[in-house]
Amino acid sequence: MLIGAHVSTAGGLHKAVERGVERGCEAIQIFHQSPRAWRPTNFGPDDFAAFNEAFAASPLGSTVIHAVYLINTCSPDAEISSKSLASLTHALRLGDAIGADGVVLHAGSRKQDPLEEAVARSGALVREALAETESCPVLFENTAGTTGPLGRDFDELAMLVEAAGAGDRIGTCIDCCHLFASGFDIVEPEALSVVVDDLDREVGLDRLRCLHVNDSAVPMGANRDKHANVGEGEMGERGIATFLSEPRFEDLPALLETPGPDKQGSDLAEVQHAKDLRAQGLAARTQAAAGA
Ligand SMILES: [Zn+2]
Ligand SMILES: [Zn+2]
Repeated sequence: MLIGAHVSTAGGLHKAVERGVERGCEAIQIFHQSPRAWRPTNFGPDDFAAFNEAFAASPLGSTVIHAVYLINTCSPDAEISSKSLASLTHALRLGDAIGADGVVLHAGSRKQDPLEEAVARSGALVREALAETESCPVLFENTAGTTGPLGRDFDELAMLVEAAGAGDRIGTCIDCCHLFASGFDIVEPEALSVVVDDLDREVGLDRLRCLHVNDSAVPMGANRDKHANVGEGEMGERGIATFLSEPRFEDLPALLETPGPDKQGSDLAEVQHAKDLRAQGLAARTQAAAGA
């Protein structure tokens, strides 16, 4: 497992590598443009070269791009849809240029629209973005919330994967905070194992390429997407340790997207805390197996 965090690209794409290293990350996640504005960042060959050089010289093992939340792949509004396509394509081009392991995507909110139609619109848009780019995968993230965010359960993730063509470039990202807030019981290893079985059956574990590791500021099933620092939320240290030690997650990048101690994002101490919790989780599993 490669434990890391979402980091800023302020000051240049390659600065993200520096920030990742400073935080003790083994993997990093970045935004491809400002998350608050539609205007795509105009990266050029020099930016890609600087990033790739810094990355190659670093101990980092994986980069993942998070598509900005403005994107709504299922919007029936022509303007939002065309801006979403442009932004997702931009993210995938960046992913191609820096060898990212994927672009994590919240498919978007369907609000009151019927599910099937919304999923079909999403699939058409994602297929178009894939057709315009080379090889970087799109990773649909599971979501939490009450305004019809697509991907709230594995049925919906499977529908999104199918609608997007179910090719090699379609994968998933699982966020433990979103699972927990959407009502999945994942704090104890046995319970998480059942959830992972379901994910495997409905979506396929071969599609799982990335994990988001956030504690939840709201109780299980509260249907709100509110991240807490690892070990400080409703999942607690036990829940995070369980998630980080699930054997079937072993080969994945696992990225923190927490508020951090000063609301500046996850820091060195929190990344280390996550690594410690993983070690605790692994030890507890070994102990349980020995006792069984
Ligand atoms: Zn997430
Ligand atoms: Zn979230």
